[in-house]
Amino acid sequence: MERENFIKQLKSTTEQWDFIIIGGGATGLGIAVDAASRGFKTVLLEQSDFAKATSCRSTKLVHGGVRYLQNGDIGLVIEALRERGYLRKNAPHLVMNQRFIIGNYRWWEKPFYTIGLTLYDLLSGTMSLGHSKPLSRLEVIKHIPGIVQKNLKGGVLYYDGQFDDARLAINLAQTATEKGAIVVNYARVSDLSKNTKGKVSGVIVEDMIDGGSFELKGECIINATGIFVDSVKRMDDPNERPLVRPSQGVHLVVDKSFLGGDDAIMVPKTSDGRVMFGVPWHNRVILGTTDVPVKEFMLEPKATDEEVDFILETAGRYLTKKPGRKDVLCVFAGLRPLAAPDKNADETKTKEISRSHKLLVSPSGLVTITGGKWTTYRRMAEDTVNQAIKTKKLPFKPCQTKTLKIHGYKENPDRSDRKYMYGSDYDQVMLCTKEKPDYGMELYNDSDFLAGEVIWAVRNEMARTVDDVLSRRLRALYIDARASIAMASKVASIMAEELHKDKNWEELQVKEYNEIARAYIL
Ligand SMILES: Cc1cc2nc3c(=O)[nH]c(=O)nc-3n(C[C@H](O)[C@H](O)[C@H](O)COP(=O)(O)OP(=O)(O)OC[C@H]3O[C@@H](n4cnc5c(N)ncnc54)[C@H](O)[C@@H]3O)c2cc1C
Repeated sequence: MERENFIKQLKSTTEQWDFIIIGGGATGLGIAVDAASRGFKTVLLEQSDFAKATSCRSTKLVHGGVRYLQNGDIGLVIEALRERGYLRKNAPHLVMNQRFIIGNYRWWEKPFYTIGLTLYDLLSGTMSLGHSKPLSRLEVIKHIPGIVQKNLKGGVLYYDGQFDDARLAINLAQTATEKGAIVVNYARVSDLSKNTKGKVSGVIVEDMIDGGSFELKGECIINATGIFVDSVKRMDDPNERPLVRPSQGVHLVVDKSFLGGDDAIMVPKTSDGRVMFGVPWHNRVILGTTDVPVKEFMLEPKATDEEVDFILETAGRYLTKKPGRKDVLCVFAGLRPLAAPDKNADETKTKEISRSHKLLVSPSGLVTITGGKWTTYRRMAEDTVNQAIKTKKLPFKPCQTKTLKIHGYKENPDRSDRKYMYGSDYDQVMLCTKEKPDYGMELYNDSDFLAGEVIWAVRNEMARTVDDVLSRRLRALYIDARASIAMASKVASIMAEELHKDKNWEELQVKEYNEIARAYIL
C-alpha cells in the first residue's frame, strides 16, 4: 500500500491489465479483491480517497434489510442475509453481531413484528447471527434504558450486523494489494481510450497529488463510480441517458447515553413511513436516516435543516432524553446511488442482468455496476467479474471471495478499546506509537487518538491528507467533529514530517480540513 511506488509503476508501464477498475468505494474495492484473487492483473483508480464518497457515510449496518422484507422482496433479503454471513465470517474484526430492539406501543405490533423478524431470522439459515424473540415491557426497558416508557407494551429483539464502513474499505484495498493488485487513491480517470473497432481499451489517468497524466491499457474496464457512474458512461458515449438518481440520507451522531446501553433501537415506521435506527458505534449512537431525492452529485453532500430536525424530532418521540441540536457531535450526509427506473435504461444499448444492483455492458464493452449496498458488495463484485469474463471471453477462473479472509482478520477483538478496528494490525500500530516519544502522545486532550496512528495511516493505509486520516482512518470526524478540528494542526505537522512536506502544505491541509469538517457541525 505505498502510493508513490504504485504510481511510479503505473506511469512507467506499457503492460496490458486484465481489469482496470474506476472507483474506490465498496463496489470498486470489492471488484479489485475479487479479480486479483482470481489471478487477474488488476488495477484500481480512485479520484479522491478510498471510500470518500458514499462508502464512508452509511448507517454502518451489515444487514438483510428489514425494510425489504416489509416490501415483500424476499429474494433480495435472502441474498443480503447470505452476504451478511460471509462478511461476518471474513472480517470479524470489523463486523459484529448487534442486538436491535423494536419497542411496541400498540397491541398488534408484538405478534406482527415477532412473526416478521422470526422469518427474517429463518431466511438467514445457517448464517443466523442470533434468534429473534418477543420481549416483555420490562425486558425492553432493560435493553434500552433510554426508551420512552409511556404506553410501551413490550417489544421484539432481533440481530443484524454492525461495522465500520471506511475501515472495511481500507482493509479491502489492503487485501487487493496482497493478492497482487495495484490500488491508488488520488488518481482520477479523466477519459477512456478506444481501439479502432470502437471498443474501450484503456483509461487516461490524472495524478491528483503530483500532477501529470498517463494512459493505462486494459481488457476489462469497469465503471464502479457509484453516484458518478453517469459521468464515466458519458466519457464512453456523450449521449448516454442517466442511470442513477441520487437520494440523500442524513445521520446524526450523539452520546451513547441517549440509548443508555449497548443495544440498538429500530423504529419500523416513522411519521413519513421510513425506518429509523439508533445504533451504538464507537462509543456513540448514530441516529438516522432520512431519504430525500437530490439533483446534485457531490463528494461532500450537506444535510439540510429539515432533515436534521426530522431526525431529532423522531428520536425525541422514542427516547426519554430528547436529543437537541447542541447534543449533535457530528452530522453527515450520504448519497445513495439509486438505479433510475427501467424506462430510463436504453434496452437496445445495454444489457441488464440483475435487479438488486444494476450491471450493464455498453456496446463499447464498458462494464458499469451501481446500486446495491455495502452488505452485498462481495456478490456485486462476483457478478461483475463473471460478466466481464464473459463479455471479454477471458479464461474462466472461479471466484475466491466467499471464504477469503479480509486484511486485519481477527476473531473476538477487545471492543472496549477503539483501536480494536485495526484487527490483526493492532500490535504493529502500537509499535508505531512507541517509535518516538511524541508518537505515543494524544492528538487532543483526553482523547485516545494517538500520534503514532497517523504515522501508521500514512505508511500502511495510503492516507495522504489530514481529511484521509481524521475522517476515514481514525474516524475522528464522525466520532466528534469539533474535537477532530482541534486535532487537525497536530495531524498536519506529523504528516508533513513523514511525507517531507513544507509549512505551506501543512497550513493548506489544516485550512482544507477545517472547511470540510465545519459542515459536520450544527
Ligand atoms: C445514507 C446511506 C446509508 C446507507 N447505509 C447502509 C448500510 O447501513 N448498510 C449497507 O449495506 N449499505 C448502506 N448504504 C449503501 C452503501 O453505502 C452504498 O451502496 C455503497 O457505499 C456504494 O458504494 P460504491 O462503491 O458503489 O459508491 P461510492 O462509495 O460512492 O464510490 C464510488 C467512488 O468512485 C470514485 N470516482 C468517481 N468518479 C471517478 C473517476 N472519474 N475516476 C476515479 N474515481 C472516481 C468516487 O470518488 C467514489 O469514491 C447506505 C447508503 C446511504 C447513502
